[in-house]
Amino acid sequence: MYTYYISVGSNIGDKRGHINLALQSLQEHDAVSKVISSPLIETEPWGYTDQDIFVNGMWLCESSLAPHQMLSLLQSLEQGAGRERLIHWGPRTLDLDIILAFDESGTMISICDESLTVPHPYFWDRTFVLEPLHELLPTFTFKGMSISERLATLSLA
Ligand code: ATP
Ligand code: MG
Ligand code: MG
Repeated sequence: MYTYYISVGSNIGDKRGHINLALQSLQEHDAVSKVISSPLIETEPWGYTDQDIFVNGMWLCESSLAPHQMLSLLQSLEQGAGRERLIHWGPRTLDLDIILAFDESGTMISICDESLTVPHPYFWDRTFVLEPLHELLPTFTFKGMSISERLATLSLA
């Protein structure tokens, strides 16, 4: 069994609708035993700023699917929401990114190959990821720093 923290985001159309429909599909999947969602928040666009505001959140997901299988499942949910990739970091109906993964013993998994990097390469720089992650995993530390400390640092930058 694996535990995943999955960042969710949408800034086209019925943003909360896209997210909630995908959440329901994930919950109903045979290989998924539990999904908990953080509250959803509205955030300013990151990276490519000339686009609508986002709705973002974080899901905790327990599943027997190994990381690459989970990535495929999340990509099929993005497809189901009509995701198109036109502009890097541009507008999207649904983005589902694996932020953190833990194995059965609670050990954090690290992967870096052509299709998957975990922990997600930018998570530590993104307020829209760290705020909802903090709701689900307030005790998490990375590089010797808590999420609260990191958020304070980012807000000064
Ligand atoms: P970012 O990953 O910086 O948030 P993005 O989410 O807009 O950008 P996508 O177009 O959704 O990027 O995904 C591009 C590719 O990223 C995917 O095809 C996938 O193989 C790869 N990828 C690598 N690591 C991850 C991860 N941890 N979670 C999701 N996709 C990942
Ligand atoms: Mg993303
Ligand atoms: Mg993505």
